[in-house]
Amino acid sequence: MKRNFEQRETLPFVNKPGRYLGHEYNAFVKNWEQTPLHCALVFPDLYEIGMSHQGLQILYHILNAQDSVLAERCYCPDKDMEELLRSRNLPLCSLENNRPLLDFDLIGITLPYELCYTNILTILDLASIPLRSTDRDEDMPIVLGGGSCSLNPEPVADFFDAILLGDGEEAILEIAESVRLGRKDQLPRAAILEKLAAIPGVYIPSHFKPSYKDDGSIAEIKALNPDFQVVTRRVLNDLSKLDHLLHPLVPNSKIVHDRLGVEVARGCTRGCRFCQAGIIYRPVRERSPEQIFELASQGIKNSGFDELALLSLSTGDYSCLGTTLPQLMDRFSRQAISVSMPSMRVGTLTQELMDQIKRVRKTGFTLAPEAGSERLRRVINKGITEDDLLNTSRDAFGLGWKVMKLYFMIGLPTETLEDIEAIAELANKTKEVGSRSGGRGRQQINVSVGTFVPKPHTPFQWDAQISIEESREKISLLKKILPRKGINFKWHDPEQSLLEGVFSRGDRRLADLLETAWRKGARLDGWSDYFDLSRWQEAADECSLCLSDFLRPRGLEEILPWHHLSSGVDENFLKEELQKAHTEAYTPDCRYHDCQKCGLCDFKVIKPVVIDRKQRQPEEAEGKPPFGLPKQTDRPQQNEELHFRYFVTYSRMGDICYLGHLEILQIVFRVLRRAGIETNFSKGFNPSPKVSFGPAMPVGTQSLAEYFVMDLPMPLDNLEEARERLNKQMPPGLTVQKIVLSNGKVPQEMVSSYRITLYPTLSSNDKQLIEKFLATDSFTVKRVRKGKVMEIDFRPLVVSLECIEEETLSLELLSKASQAGVKPLEALASILQKEQKELLSSVVIKTGWKEV
Ligand code: SF4
Repeated sequence: MKRNFEQRETLPFVNKPGRYLGHEYNAFVKNWEQTPLHCALVFPDLYEIGMSHQGLQILYHILNAQDSVLAERCYCPDKDMEELLRSRNLPLCSLENNRPLLDFDLIGITLPYELCYTNILTILDLASIPLRSTDRDEDMPIVLGGGSCSLNPEPVADFFDAILLGDGEEAILEIAESVRLGRKDQLPRAAILEKLAAIPGVYIPSHFKPSYKDDGSIAEIKALNPDFQVVTRRVLNDLSKLDHLLHPLVPNSKIVHDRLGVEVARGCTRGCRFCQAGIIYRPVRERSPEQIFELASQGIKNSGFDELALLSLSTGDYSCLGTTLPQLMDRFSRQAISVSMPSMRVGTLTQELMDQIKRVRKTGFTLAPEAGSERLRRVINKGITEDDLLNTSRDAFGLGWKVMKLYFMIGLPTETLEDIEAIAELANKTKEVGSRSGGRGRQQINVSVGTFVPKPHTPFQWDAQISIEESREKISLLKKILPRKGINFKWHDPEQSLLEGVFSRGDRRLADLLETAWRKGARLDGWSDYFDLSRWQEAADECSLCLSDFLRPRGLEEILPWHHLSSGVDENFLKEELQKAHTEAYTPDCRYHDCQKCGLCDFKVIKPVVIDRKQRQPEEAEGKPPFGLPKQTDRPQQNEELHFRYFVTYSRMGDICYLGHLEILQIVFRVLRRAGIETNFSKGFNPSPKVSFGPAMPVGTQSLAEYFVMDLPMPLDNLEEARERLNKQMPPGLTVQKIVLSNGKVPQEMVSSYRITLYPTLSSNDKQLIEKFLATDSFTVKRVRKGKVMEIDFRPLVVSLECIEEETLSLELLSKASQAGVKPLEALASILQKEQKELLSSVVIKTGWKEV
């Protein structure tokens, strides 16, 4: 049995310990004993990816809003943490209460993309939960899957007890309640699964049994429970019914999308024939501008983020964007909060929108023509022309954008050599547009290419995926014909695309492949540094499978592995779309055109929700500010600024000490915003709050004496009240002690005092080494920084070193702003002739400092 543990046993020894810390602002830490149902929500990738995922966070808030449910999070550990947990026989735990996953009743694991599948095995194994659902004991957690890949979860089906297809907001509560009652009534596992199967959208893999022909294709998928022959995706008919993300989680360490995300709409109606999301998130459901405004205002106020992202599969298609974006910019630009729209479709990114976006920061955007030629874009129903793309680029360069990202796919059905050459031609034309319309400075085109992977439930689900060799040939051609100057070319690894393709349309035979590759060391396959195809090839040989077999075209009458799982869209619609692809016929979208009869909507409960833009116009015509709010102006120019500076002393105690200097800095910026303390901002491309910090503290060092100096445009009326306001917003471990008016100067030379409690304690030899050190005038050590070895004499920097007790030392170190300093454990390790990692379990506290 693995034992529970304290974070001090692991955090000092791993990279980026902030990933495993928890303590995020707005996290729920409920009482374990007093809450009947314990759910763990797991994202099977690293923290920085998982914390950027909206879906998991929405479920986290919905579940925790229930008194009877506690939901905690867990992310896949990086390899170093996995090794550490294994070597010390420690279990994988949740972030909030640090509880082993095995203690939970229900474990929900997101299935966001295929290359994270081995991470699911890592997580189950570290939790001591048997990988296969059939091997789990009665009292073990129910393992539930959900997310984008759930519409073909067959490669991982054996590892799950249940899988939810489609929107989770309502279903998760029904599932939680069913598990709670099942546990309360001490029902056997199989009976709980029976109850879950009755919830619309819930798929129980063990209730279906596929059989295969000799050539590997599916002979039959037998429904073992005659009441449930097909499981149909759950659809939330109205997004606006739920407004759950008013208190978003605020990460303590850097994540990929470090911003407030507001989902403006779900579903996309454009009908690109390669796009799975365009099918499995139908129909389009827009939020009202009022609700978006409320979610944005409350979300920013309650988080302190400096970026708001308007999220949807195609934000430019949101019917009220033209009026909503200026209103949001009016609301936020003064606080230097930028608004970004990460998924903009060419043709919807107008000059007016770009003008709005650049009011604070020129947040980047990627244009995705997907295919180089007009012909191929007609095949995939992209519905954009070269003129659309060049006009958008012209506007962007004209408004000062310097970098344009273009995304293309290779290997699309019917692709020819001319289509590949057309990618280079289009990139060249975009570059020329940049040179002509861009202002001073160089424009850069980033061309990025990925191999097309046919996805289940799309019109191209029957098409072949090109081989690694073909991908490489096309990439080599592009490398040759794309000019080097002004165009930066990147491509997605064809080996990773191969594996994605295998799992994308794979069947249950792949469970053995997954487990074998995982046992051979396959980990974090989405990360190119870790990915190694040879492990997969070896595993495939052992399982008598051939990876490239899974890339083959499928017959239109063939039983596909997801035959028993319905997205709600009619298969005949997909077949017609496939046919139309070959005749290059256009299918218009159903947001602004007629219903295209995909079969999903019943127009009673399920129907598109589009807010008619015209409804907004009378209000605008009168020139009234939106939603009754006074119009705010952009930030004042420099010459209007006033400066009031305050010296703020704070402590960082406990586990929060495992955050790095830049992470603390970001936390303070957000605390200031949440506390409503407005700062002045730096000027330029990326305005940031004018706050200067004391010297960087080493990760793992606690401190009673940190400071920052904030530069404000208005004086603080009451310093004690401001201190209390800040403390209300601080994450656990950070406490403001004092605020005083300052001249803005920060100490350039100071002596800092530390108290160090050593693990292990000092030996007599250690004590002699300390005496010897104190007796010398010079103590030169070698230090490697960014690959360079340099010598530093740190004897003059050690002002005093004293042994207070057997295990406790007091140390004073001199630091100068202009000079390389020495860290307490670094100094001590050199003096004691040890490796620094031998001392990492020691407790180091900075107790004070004085200016010299
Ligand atoms: S049924 Fe019609 S309106 Fe509904 S998503 Fe399909 S095409 Fe759009």
